Amino acid sequence: MTDTPRRSRAPITTSDFYDWFSTIPEQVNAERLKLRTFMSEEWEPQANAYWEQAAFPREYLVGKMKELDLLRDKYTPARAGSATVSDGLLSMEFARVDPSLATFFGVHAGLCMGSIALCGSDEQQAEWLPPLRRWDMVGAFGLTEPEVGSGVARGLTTTCRREGDTWVLNGQKKWIGNSTWCDIVIIWARDEADQSVKGFIVRTTLDGYSAEMMGGKIAQRTVHNGLITLRNVRVAERDRLQNATSFAATQRVLVTARCGTAWQGVGCAMGAYEYALKYAGERSQFGRPIAGFQLVQNMLVKMLGNVTAMIGLALRASELQDQLGPRDELSALAKQFCAARCRETVALAREALGGNGILLEYHVARLFADAEAIYSYEGSNEINTMIVGRAITGHSAFV
Ligand SMILES: Cc1cc2nc3c(=O)[nH]c(=O)nc-3n(C[C@H](O)[C@H](O)[C@H](O)COP(=O)(O)OP(=O)(O)OC[C@H]3O[C@@H](n4cnc5c(N)ncnc54)[C@H](O)[C@@H]3O)c2cc1C
Repeated sequence: MTDTPRRSRAPITTSDFYDWFSTIPEQVNAERLKLRTFMSEEWEPQANAYWEQAAFPREYLVGKMKELDLLRDKYTPARAGSATVSDGLLSMEFARVDPSLATFFGVHAGLCMGSIALCGSDEQQAEWLPPLRRWDMVGAFGLTEPEVGSGVARGLTTTCRREGDTWVLNGQKKWIGNSTWCDIVIIWARDEADQSVKGFIVRTTLDGYSAEMMGGKIAQRTVHNGLITLRNVRVAERDRLQNATSFAATQRVLVTARCGTAWQGVGCAMGAYEYALKYAGERSQFGRPIAGFQLVQNMLVKMLGNVTAMIGLALRASELQDQLGPRDELSALAKQFCAARCRETVALAREALGGNGILLEYHVARLFADAEAIYSYEGSNEINTMIVGRAITGHSAFV
């Protein structure tokens, strides 16, 4: 008799336990794996240092984005039919190693480019999308304000006033990713004349624009969020998003981007599970790997169950939207479910690492903290719950 635990077969280390990714088109999978290589081999060794210092190496990262060229087909017919799945998988791969980079990428490619693609005229798309695709310019998206987050649809206080061929913008925007250093920010403002919500492509070099970096963040420290102040910023009428005439336009952009945030939850949980599984195999206590303890296996299996369910849900939500077009309730359920399961999964991973779970060195601590941001942005848990609740009951719980 021996007290060495029996192991009857080689461990299955993939976090795609049900082989969901076998169903995605080859080209889409190739892009995902190209990004995975960069994130795992080049970025991961540096990720903790930047997070700890709250430093964002923008020249290096923008240079890498140019090299990877992930946006070359973004908002072109070449991606029709698989755009939501492709974008989602990229979000997942960024977040699997570093959710801060998923935000940096998502704000530029999803929210900023998405605003121009969905709400801009043909001329505006032709002017702005090519340099954004090439990363010759970087963009941001300014909707949230210091006093209004979830309630922006009704509560937006930033104003715009038309004076001839110019609009004058005043107000503040809070939490705006990339805004302290990027080239353009999409600013959503309320028209003083008729109270409708309009969108503007605002160059950050304009007089009256300033963005102060927000300090003291305990999640996604690497990406920089700014508090933007707009003081009589004068924007040309030609830079007003020509097809955005109400908050419904903003909503179209958010619905499209929200599915990407669900995938961030998938990636963050997947990374945490993979780190925890590896750690459990390497760490020994009481003379055996902790992976051999039933209670540790219970944590790992719960994590894997979450990740497996999240991939399936996010993938199907994305496929459906590629077929049917953006659907508020499909994105909202994916975001609500994946962000909540992500939070549960990173907590289990952090627990499985014991004390080392709160040390940056093991990566799980960073994912544990970063999941908190994923949980709150792109519609909090409560807001997404009410979107789905309204869809399934026919009753709106929004006050
Ligand atoms: C890291 C990070 C990056 C971000 N990046 C950007 C960005 O680039 N651009 C941008 O525009 N915004 C950005 N945001 C803002 C984000 O979208 C908001 O934080 C989010 O919409 C929630 O708003 P809030 O933080 O003001 O919370 P609040 O709206 O004040 O909500 C506080 C709490 O009240 C709950 N609540 C609110 N209303 C209701 C209700 N009717 N019923 C039940 N519960 C309710 C919420 O669910 C939440 O739990 C970012 C946020 C973070 C944390």
